[in-house]
Amino acid sequence: MLLGAIEAGGTKFVCATGAENGQVSDRISIPTTTPTETMTAVDDYFTTHPVDAIGIGSFGTIGVNPDDPKYGYITTTPKPGWGDFDFLGHLKSRFNIPLYWTTDVNEAAYGESMIGIAKDVPNSIYMTIGTGVGAGVISQNHIFNGRTHTELGHMRLNRLPGDDFKSNCPYHDICLEGLAAGPAVGKRTGKAGKDIPVDDPVWPIIADYIAQACVNLTVAFAPDKIILNGGVMNQRQLFPMIREKFAAYLNGYEEVPPLDDYIVPAGLGNNSGIAGGLLLAQVALKNA
Ligand code: ZN
Repeated sequence: MLLGAIEAGGTKFVCATGAENGQVSDRISIPTTTPTETMTAVDDYFTTHPVDAIGIGSFGTIGVNPDDPKYGYITTTPKPGWGDFDFLGHLKSRFNIPLYWTTDVNEAAYGESMIGIAKDVPNSIYMTIGTGVGAGVISQNHIFNGRTHTELGHMRLNRLPGDDFKSNCPYHDICLEGLAAGPAVGKRTGKAGKDIPVDDPVWPIIADYIAQACVNLTVAFAPDKIILNGGVMNQRQLFPMIREKFAAYLNGYEEVPPLDDYIVPAGLGNNSGIAGGLLLAQVALKNA
């Protein structure tokens, strides 16, 4: 059996084939331009690499509730041309195979929970802090959805005293994404992430906001592990700062696992999403 995966991002789509254990056998990267151009390349890939099912994780927001008329759509996005695009319908019209449809972060969360750093625990949260912030919640080995998918990157935080940075989110003056995503770090320092020294005063600020988010995730979802990934988290010095602030903010209220095992980097690196897609393709096959 050969499985397929799509990790659909705002700058590139990764398409891959692989096995039931999440191991990738082939992959390509396609620039995200217009839906017509990009989807033609996706169609061509899976025509020349036939698979038994495909797991799809998409940027968005997207429709994930099967009762919603916009199920399978990218609903709203600042990416020109992609708003109100029937992604799943497009694939269904071309490939008569089981498809699993979810968000890009849920896909990556599933990969980490099944074969990555959280494979030994049933409850985990995967949060990526890069161009934007998003998180996928795995509860009892299943992807958590409510009325729609979560939007944990936009949780409200307490602004630090003295931090007068204007939020980078057009909707919220104190959300995690607006205060601490990659573009916010860039605007705060006037530098690209890789050019900011590890001891720059911006990092304790960023670590504080991420720690606040981790406390909120802990009290809301009671995970066994919180996985932090994405461009900002390549700054490994953030991890000890986040754990220290997290402990201070939780203030002993509840018992959590040892923090070195609780707030952790991803185990699969940049492969979390595509591995998750392959594993979700398998779920689609079982459900078919
Ligand atoms: Zn926001």
